[in-house]
Amino acid sequence: MNMITNHLPTAELQALDAAHHMHPFTDANGLATKGARIITRGKGVWLTDSEGNRIIDGMAGLWCVNIGYGRKELAEVAARQMEELAYYNTFFQTTHVPAIALAAKIAELAPGDLNHVFFAGSGSEANDTNIRLVRRYWQVKGMPEKRVIIARKNGYHGSTMGGGSLGGMAPIHAHGGMIDGIEHIGQPYWWGEGGDMTEAEFGLLRARELEDKILELGVDKVAAFIGEPVQGAGGVIVPPATYWPEIQRICDKYGILLIADEVITGFGRTGNWFGSQTFGIRPHIMTIAKGLSSGYQPIGGSIVCDEVARVVAEGGEFFHGYTYSGHPVAAAVALENLRILQEEHIIEHVRDVAHPYLRERWEALTEHPLVGEAKLVGLMGSIALTPDKAKRAKFASEAGTVGFRTRERCFANNLIMRHVGDRMIISPPLVITPAEIDILIERAKTSLDESYASLKADGLLVAKAE
Ligand SMILES: *Cc1c(COP(=O)(O)O)cnc(C)c1O
Repeated sequence: MNMITNHLPTAELQALDAAHHMHPFTDANGLATKGARIITRGKGVWLTDSEGNRIIDGMAGLWCVNIGYGRKELAEVAARQMEELAYYNTFFQTTHVPAIALAAKIAELAPGDLNHVFFAGSGSEANDTNIRLVRRYWQVKGMPEKRVIIARKNGYHGSTMGGGSLGGMAPIHAHGGMIDGIEHIGQPYWWGEGGDMTEAEFGLLRARELEDKILELGVDKVAAFIGEPVQGAGGVIVPPATYWPEIQRICDKYGILLIADEVITGFGRTGNWFGSQTFGIRPHIMTIAKGLSSGYQPIGGSIVCDEVARVVAEGGEFFHGYTYSGHPVAAAVALENLRILQEEHIIEHVRDVAHPYLRERWEALTEHPLVGEAKLVGLMGSIALTPDKAKRAKFASEAGTVGFRTRERCFANNLIMRHVGDRMIISPPLVITPAEIDILIERAKTSLDESYASLKADGLLVAKAE
């Protein structure tokens, strides 16, 4: 037996992990002292760790395992494709059947005239492609100075230099800097930043920052705006209903390109194929990854509208591409994932069954003394933890202290629920059943109770001074 199927005891694995494996977004010191949790199996919405615990995955991995774990069909498709053609590239006028079939399928599913797909290996890579695509578009149109991309504070667009620069997260910018030509405006986060305004007023105010920024820079300098229909990694920030229509109006008025980063919201997460459909957004480009393959293979891409594809093609060769653009195994697996999403009516399940069932229970969490607002779009949700709901107060402790403590209680109760600052977020596999939702909610309530008791004991239920 090899080391993966017949593995060492947990403590020894953890020691090797800490010694040799550099983890993304992890405090390495914590790893050395506490050891990482080792996940060994997955089936449906359930994970098993190396100690045999059964964990309900409230995050679908990293927002990606839309069809759930352990689907044999995808393994079979991968094995077949590896035997037939394990690899070939799509550079220099070559192609292969899986890339062709997947591009055609995505074009069929995507709304409007989003009919062209440029493949990448991940969401970050796809957003790097988008930076180059929109700048190239304006260059071919004879306006090379139109190259600034406007994005949002606390947005997340990946972790490459391009993706990290588009994202609006200061800690990421602090580690390695940013590329040039990216500007950030405020986020539509009413609970945290809306003050005395109504949600509707605040949504308009934040959208109009786009217009102010365009006018400040000069429209002849601005190439595009990028945003997630619902900010995911930023804390599942659901924008007020007034926000996207106003962003759309402004993009239309000034003729700038609109990029919807659908890496999380694509492929059923919001109860439609794409978040743009849920929010009435008409993007020129969509970024996709995660749910495209339900995480069974690394693959991402940009879905591009007719006009942008036509202009870029007019410019001749586009000097851009990845060795693994449209990788045949990843493409074949993604195609099988889309077949399952469609034929098993998983998006209808989200819209008609799982969302309404979870919504009632999720919103009822606001009865808990620690919980302020509860938001749920499709199957992506968040709750704001607060010491004083009426004032939408923050905690006096350093931001994230309470969220981290609550996440630790969830982990101890075999529920994976992440924290972003003092918000708790979920994004379970789309196939979650009502019975599993009951378990998720029970474990969430227990964790909130335990967290509340420990915060109380430590005198941490204190609001920050205004
Ligand atoms: C995860 C994510 C990305 C980055 O995707 P990777 O595959 O991790 O590179 C980009 N945009 C959004 C909205 C994401 O959630």
